[in-house]
Amino acid sequence: MVRAVASIIGVPKETLPGERRVAATPESVKKLSQRGLSLHVEKGAGLEAGYSDAAYAEAGATVVDSVWQCETLFKVRPPSLDEVAKTKDGALIVSLMQPERNPALVDALKAKKLTALALERIPRVTRAQKMDVLSSQANLSGYRAVVEAAAHLQGFMGPQVTAAGSTPPAKVLIIGAGVAGLAAVGAARALGAEVRAFDTRAAAREQVESLGAKFLEVSLQESGEGQGGYAKTMSPEFIAAEMALFRAQAKEVDVIITTALVPGTKAPVLVPKDVVEQLRPGSVVVDMAAEQGGNCELTKPGEVAVFNGVKILGFTDLASRMAATSSRFFAMNLVHLCGELGTGDTLTLPLENDVVRPALLLHRGEALPALPVKEPSPTAAPKPKDEAPKAPPHQPHAPPPADAKPQQEHITAPNRAAWGSTLGGLIVIAVLFGLGRFAPSDFLQHSTVFVLACFVGWQVVWSVTPALHTPLMSVTNAISGIIIVGGLLQVGGSVDLATVLGVLAVFFATINIAGGFLVTERMLKMFRREEGAPKASGGHR
Ligand code: NAD
Repeated sequence: MVRAVASIIGVPKETLPGERRVAATPESVKKLSQRGLSLHVEKGAGLEAGYSDAAYAEAGATVVDSVWQCETLFKVRPPSLDEVAKTKDGALIVSLMQPERNPALVDALKAKKLTALALERIPRVTRAQKMDVLSSQANLSGYRAVVEAAAHLQGFMGPQVTAAGSTPPAKVLIIGAGVAGLAAVGAARALGAEVRAFDTRAAAREQVESLGAKFLEVSLQESGEGQGGYAKTMSPEFIAAEMALFRAQAKEVDVIITTALVPGTKAPVLVPKDVVEQLRPGSVVVDMAAEQGGNCELTKPGEVAVFNGVKILGFTDLASRMAATSSRFFAMNLVHLCGELGTGDTLTLPLENDVVRPALLLHRGEALPALPVKEPSPTAAPKPKDEAPKAPPHQPHAPPPADAKPQQEHITAPNRAAWGSTLGGLIVIAVLFGLGRFAPSDFLQHSTVFVLACFVGWQVVWSVTPALHTPLMSVTNAISGIIIVGGLLQVGGSVDLATVLGVLAVFFATINIAGGFLVTERMLKMFRREEGAPKASGGHR
């Protein structure tokens, strides 16, 4: 069943303290307007994200004092009870809803017979990735968590060697390597930190290692994969083993960033007080799960708590701290979602749609049953992996495809190539034989050296992988040196062919040597930055 919803979308200003994001940007307004949809944007809605009312108007939106009477509303945060009260009966609200933490909101939505699309419930399947606000925002938050850690850490993230002294790279432990955790690994590595990460899902190992970080393990074997590849609540024994690992790690690291979440439940406490006690004063804990109860026992949501000189950042607005970009991504997620909500100048609600239905928290104030799981059709059933495709009965030899070449051509083509190379080889042998028979012995000797040099040079230069071009450069510099000596020996008093060739040889070999030195020097500088720094010795910054 498909229901027409509305053609005017209202975008209110977010009212949650500290929320700077907005659910539409001039860019998304332009895209939705091109489709024929009208947008009403509340005055000042985008100001804190850097989008002025004038920019919205220029993009095609109508800037208004209140949008609450629009039939569709696009928001970032769950609506407050006051906002629900202002909403037109029967309207559609598209936003994060977090109903588990907000039963009063669900009751209010029901009372006004509202339709609520909870963005966090959009299924995390490949087709819906472009509408996945959880991923787009977690990516930004992971990055921002590292930036905040670096801002609160009293030292460099990367190694430093200066005339005034040197410092090892900061050691960063990241707990939970999902979207946010991996973004944090990437950002911390990019700043030069030494990073290690832990996750209960085995799939996270490869992703962590591919970003250049170390994947930590506990000796207890327990799969962390829940339904659909997501995390599940781990056993108390596993959590205890994790804590022991973090307790030992805390003696070494400067920064802990926690991102561990299990969908639908409170965040597990993985950094209790005694783990924080192991950290050196000046260390930083960034608890990205602060809003869901926190992974650290000492987290105060929205605040910077200080314990024994360790700062525990409980920011709940990490994505909002980069409001221009996070709003842009959020708004584009909604533009893509609108692609599921019909075409043309009216939004429709396709109740059978496999992305829309799971996210539909309420439809006209009522919860709908889940869509029945589609049985795979017998024709689409996958074949057992190692079973070879069988020819249908009565058709022992399937006819060749229409574009298949005649069989004979497959046989003769390689033969022709083989004949070609044999003939080429024979010609070379004949030429060499002729030279050997008639040319002066000097010429033969020189041409042999020349052919061998070409062959060896070809092999040396073309067979070397690009990663090894720097050592190769050093070797060719040595060879160029020999060429220069040889060239100088040829440069005599009279101007003859040998002199000209000698001068050219000296000229080109000099270019090769100078260029080689320049490139080698640049590469060595890069290595000095990476490896010349003192080894991390557990010293603090
Ligand atoms: P999340 O925010 O729910 O959880 C964060 C991480 O915490 C997860 O990696 C989880 O394994 C980990 N965690 C939970 N309990 C833990 C514990 N006790 N100790 C240590 N770590 C713990 O997850 P997320 O980042 O939103 O997504 C998780 C995974 O889902 C991603 O890595 C990705 O592979 C997948 N995903 C798929 C899609 C898609 O296909 N569209 C979209 C987003 C994510």
